[in-house]
Amino acid sequence: MTRQRVFVVEDEEAFVDALTVGLTKEGFDVEVARDGAEAIARFDEVNPDVVLLDLMLPRVSGVDVCRDLRRRSRVPIIMVTAKSSEVDTVVGLEVGADDYITKPYRMRELVARVRAVMRRVEDTVSSESESESEPERALQVGDVSIDPDSHVVLVRGEQVAFPLKEFDLLSLLMEHAGRVLSRDTLIDRIWGHDYVGDTKTLDVHVKRLRAKVEDDPSNPTRIVTIRGLGYKYDKPKV
Ligand code: CA
Repeated sequence: MTRQRVFVVEDEEAFVDALTVGLTKEGFDVEVARDGAEAIARFDEVNPDVVLLDLMLPRVSGVDVCRDLRRRSRVPIIMVTAKSSEVDTVVGLEVGADDYITKPYRMRELVARVRAVMRRVEDTVSSESESESEPERALQVGDVSIDPDSHVVLVRGEQVAFPLKEFDLLSLLMEHAGRVLSRDTLIDRIWGHDYVGDTKTLDVHVKRLRAKVEDDPSNPTRIVTIRGLGYKYDKPKV
């Protein structure tokens, strides 16, 4: 089996050293770019299995690098943000990052994230190319579960009917449970980025979802509004 290659785009020497040592020890090949322009120039030649992309880079920012790579590749991208900022996170996900991790991080957590995004990509590729009977994984958050294969949604054990867009929106929110998804991201992913309709469409759909999954739709605890940003599917408190 060939070793999987991680493209580390990072300008801080201490992080570069730690990542090179840590990831190599975990069995990955590591290639490093020290700024955004180098990352863009060398991406095709490096041909990585995953990109670990620092947000704050000299010359070309991580956001611009991400945007550029997304235009030509579906490679998994993990955005590295300097601080736990919801805005950075939202921007990262909007320009096509698959996941993000906040500095300072533990090497063990980072490796787990790298493996998780690569698994997700393998799952997508195999479900696209292999037999259609290959079931997609059911998703459960709290008392709501969805089965992408059969399109069945269970709310507190009861089957509830969801039209396609509502189903897609609920799936997207639940897949990212605990994270804020911006209005633009939600509209892009569900209605396409050429969508020209009223953005109220999103709110209407959210309202319909709440009517189906919330105990009290006027006082939502699952699909919550993050003012000025978007929506988040809250994980149940334990
Ligand atoms: Ca940096």
